[in-house]
Amino acid sequence: MKGIFEKIIDKEIPADIIHEDELTIAFRDISPVAPVHFLVIPKKKITNVQTASPQDSSVFSHIFSVIQQLALKENLAEDGYRVVTNIGEYGGQTVDHLHFHVLGGRALQWPPG
Ligand code: 5GP
Repeated sequence: MKGIFEKIIDKEIPADIIHEDELTIAFRDISPVAPVHFLVIPKKKITNVQTASPQDSSVFSHIFSVIQQLALKENLAEDGYRVVTNIGEYGGQTVDHLHFHVLGGRALQWPPG
């Protein structure tokens, strides 16, 4: 069965998409926890960092290049921002499709709960 992010990739459910290319799509999180909060995900179905294969390394490097570009566009680059990927139950992953949260627009707390 198609997951929620696959439906966003296939435009079956709406999302505020801020970037799309052959390998990735980025859209604003539906429940933002910072003034700027978007997700960058691969179009390829990869569950998380732990299950990715070495063949996926080019996808990862591309994702980080997209994050760099979007951080500039969203005015996060100068003050700084955070990139987070949750993995599995203890990591707090709720959607089983690899995604990188990009958070910024305010000073963020550390450590997380
Ligand atoms: P996780 O908890 O797996 O690290 O992050 C999943 C994120 O996806 C959450 O921050 C959640 O708000 C976001 N999310 C879940 N469903 C949707 C949706 O349908 N649309 C959008 N834009 N974000 C979603």
